[in-house]
Amino acid sequence: MQLIEHSDSPRYIRLHERDNVVIVVNDQGVPAGTEFSDGLVTVDFVPQSHKVTLEDIPEGGQVIRYGQVIGYALQPIPRGSWVKEDQLRMPTAPPLDSLPLSTEVPAAQAPLEGFTFEGYRNADGTVGTRNILGITTTVQCVTGVLDHAVKRIKEELLPKYPHVDDVVALTHSYGCGVAITATDADIPIRTVRNLARNPNLGGEALVISLGCEKLQAGQVMHEGDASVDLSEPWLYRLQDSSHGFTEMIEQIMELAETRLKKLDQRRRETVPASELILGMQCGGSDAFSGITANPALGYASDLLLRAGATVMFSEVTEVRDAIYLLTSRAQTKEVAQELVWEMDWYDRYLAKGEADRSANTTPGNKKGGLSNIVEKSLGSIVKSGSSAITGVLGPGERFKEKGLIFCATPASDFVCGTLQLAAGMNLHVFTTGRGTPYGLAMAPVVKVSTRTELAQRWPDLIDIDAGRIATGRASIEELGWELFHYYLDVASGKQQTWAEKHKLHNDITLFNPAPIT
Ligand code: CA
Repeated sequence: MQLIEHSDSPRYIRLHERDNVVIVVNDQGVPAGTEFSDGLVTVDFVPQSHKVTLEDIPEGGQVIRYGQVIGYALQPIPRGSWVKEDQLRMPTAPPLDSLPLSTEVPAAQAPLEGFTFEGYRNADGTVGTRNILGITTTVQCVTGVLDHAVKRIKEELLPKYPHVDDVVALTHSYGCGVAITATDADIPIRTVRNLARNPNLGGEALVISLGCEKLQAGQVMHEGDASVDLSEPWLYRLQDSSHGFTEMIEQIMELAETRLKKLDQRRRETVPASELILGMQCGGSDAFSGITANPALGYASDLLLRAGATVMFSEVTEVRDAIYLLTSRAQTKEVAQELVWEMDWYDRYLAKGEADRSANTTPGNKKGGLSNIVEKSLGSIVKSGSSAITGVLGPGERFKEKGLIFCATPASDFVCGTLQLAAGMNLHVFTTGRGTPYGLAMAPVVKVSTRTELAQRWPDLIDIDAGRIATGRASIEELGWELFHYYLDVASGKQQTWAEKHKLHNDITLFNPAPIT
């Protein structure tokens, strides 16, 4: 990476030697007529994080960032111009039938030994980073009653059990009024099932059911999971109440207290860093995402993988245009083919709504200098670091083995977060350029800003400022190590993230591509 910098002088970042556009670093942008230290003179005002051309680009010429074509010029763009999204024609998505499969598998890096965190060991072999009572649901009908009960549990019972971190209601919109046997219904159903198995719930989740709904409690807790003991009192059905609302609340509170007592017996113990299951995503991205925050996450991912941990990245529409860079990195041809399958499934899913991956980019992304989904994807996949991709999960599936896993999810922040929780993540990291107060109730969320200006404006929401990379105050390597240690401290409960301190969390949001009746 080439960094042009003097104290307050005009600065830009060029990522790859092939690039013919660079990104302006200065907070207020640079006015027309600005001369950079290498002699480049701007012909327009160029805002921070937006692109400026290094050479004259003819009509139809390639615009190159990350060493890849992000668009074709619709008109001549002279050297020193601000490159705006409406001047570019987006390349077509890479065809899925001619991708390189497992052709450039990165060699395994040297193992990192001796790193640990303090976690809660579970009977199924996973480790929790928090000790949470989860109360899941089979249907939306029970939400009002459960929310009422959880409020009382938090006020009246939780203070008696100081080793339990929280009580979380896993409420959602699924369960009835749905085509429960439709092919894609498996996605929301397995998501609900696997959410209850998240390592941070300690294998002690309860189920609240109405009684007459399509999604039955046994299906949520039992299918394919022999470890669930059906003799345990893990279920309450509201329709079993013979004395109305008051009895429902009493019954739920009584059931909750049996679990709180068990969870309160648990203590943290020292476990290897390999027990970490990190879910990564971005939201409110800008053109800095791919220069600062995401490369730092990528460096930290490589460190975690060297320590034997599990790292998941997601967001199909944000890898689709860069998929050739991922299929080539797959450990085996089979893993590469699974990646292709998930891309194809999503292409078809979007096509049903007469949409495509270009619907992903938001007005905020564009204001942040991202011209289109191709540019956004190239910045997004940097999170995955440089290791071989060893596994692929469909939406709602639970992780099976350690390593670098592509977990196929929509890019929507809360849907992706929900699906990564179902996949088993016990820690989440989230990069943002435009800013979002995003959080999750079931796992700590580390928020990393792509720009220092955001970290300064939101000092009580952003945990780590990766904008230091753009201004030369930290290297990608330094920030990668900082993140690695921060992850372990947060996992151990030694450090709380801002979202945790404020108890900010988004709702569980299921991905249901199947019909509603
Ligand atoms: Ca997202």
